[in-house]
Amino acid sequence: MASTQINLGPFPEDPGYRKAVHKDQADPLASFADRFVRYDPELVYLDGNSLGRLPVVTRDALGGLTEIEWGEQLVRSWPRRWWNLATDIGTQLAPLIGAGRDEVIIADSTSVVLYKLALGALVAQRDRANVVTDDMNFPTDNYVLTAAAKLTGGKVVTVESPDGIHGPEDAIIAALDDQTALLSLSHVTFKSGYLYDIKRLTAAAHEVGALVLWDLSHSVGAVPIDLEADDVDLAVGCTYKYLNGGPGSPAFLYVSKQRGAAVENPLTGWWGHREPFAFDLDYHANSSIQRFQTGTMPILSLAPVEYGVALTAEAGMHRIRQKSVDLSEFFVEHASRLLMPLGFKLASPESAAKRGSHVSLRHPQAWQIVQAMIERAKIVPDFREPDNIRFGLAPLYTSFRDVHTTIGRIAEIVLKDLHLGYPQHRDSVT
Ligand SMILES: *Cc1c(COP(=O)(O)O)cnc(C)c1O
Repeated sequence: MASTQINLGPFPEDPGYRKAVHKDQADPLASFADRFVRYDPELVYLDGNSLGRLPVVTRDALGGLTEIEWGEQLVRSWPRRWWNLATDIGTQLAPLIGAGRDEVIIADSTSVVLYKLALGALVAQRDRANVVTDDMNFPTDNYVLTAAAKLTGGKVVTVESPDGIHGPEDAIIAALDDQTALLSLSHVTFKSGYLYDIKRLTAAAHEVGALVLWDLSHSVGAVPIDLEADDVDLAVGCTYKYLNGGPGSPAFLYVSKQRGAAVENPLTGWWGHREPFAFDLDYHANSSIQRFQTGTMPILSLAPVEYGVALTAEAGMHRIRQKSVDLSEFFVEHASRLLMPLGFKLASPESAAKRGSHVSLRHPQAWQIVQAMIERAKIVPDFREPDNIRFGLAPLYTSFRDVHTTIGRIAEIVLKDLHLGYPQHRDSVT
């Protein structure tokens, strides 16, 4: 099997190639690709929506962080820098999501901050306890919302998508009623990449008296977000996807000063106390966003988030979104020509205005094709059961040539049946 060679591209004979070259030449963000560590120039990395690449500046700073801040300065680094780091990075991240400087903080994992805000919202809503969401949400969000609703005597109402691609916006609005305490959705859905209309759904929830909690994990750093303008109550999101904060870097949370004032942190810990170093046995919440902290932050995982946020801010959300739309349109155009005739189907919205920054394709042999892509063709996408191949188009380091080459390599795999030698089903441990 390994004897059949695959052409790793580029594919200059294909008519799309010149277009890709032109688009790369005209790309105002092209130089950002060099700001990330790249070991293998032939590798096309399309999983930035799962784990963003390592910025060069982060790699260079991590040595100093461990050597100087931890090794030399030891516990003295807490008052010098570490204690305020989660708040400082929250302040830097705030403009990327249209939040006020004192409405965002870094804390815990996305699952944990989602739980804190969902439960806090349900407790704040005394006369109602149900949560409305959709069936395209990331599973952890469903587990968290179900657990929170159970504690306050409510249930989760899950609205179904008609096709597994589009968010059922009208049906969600119809499901909201006077028993709805909270509406919680992913801004961009993790599988199909559907982009919800935050403004519209937030307004509909407010109309029935519900609070809204958006999960921005798949949109922050890829799609412009304006939480204040859209009157959003609560939000959370990942920092290790498009923000390139590193594996397991802690999440961010947003609580609107105006709309979230009644929401309290249900997981009180000393980091949320108004005077942590008074070591008072009674809990008195900090009046700032710091009240949503619980315990000691993982500084080595937190510090890289600052560099990822700064790179994104430097590139600018407007330019990032423009390139993201352009990349996904280019992807769909060439996939339609070269891959759809080979049995692939688009599993993302056709309209770029309704897509985030990843595109999904379906194929009956998707798992075999993904294995061949990774092992034979140096393309790293990811696979979502049962037949979904997800292509994350991170605008800071994905080029139009990357997209073109990817489609050429996949076409070659399928045309030469190079995927058929791989297992048809995923081993449960991988
Ligand atoms: C990636 C992602 C998560 C991940 O949560 P962790 O607690 O960091 O594992 C949660 N929700 C959504 C919508 C995601 O895309």
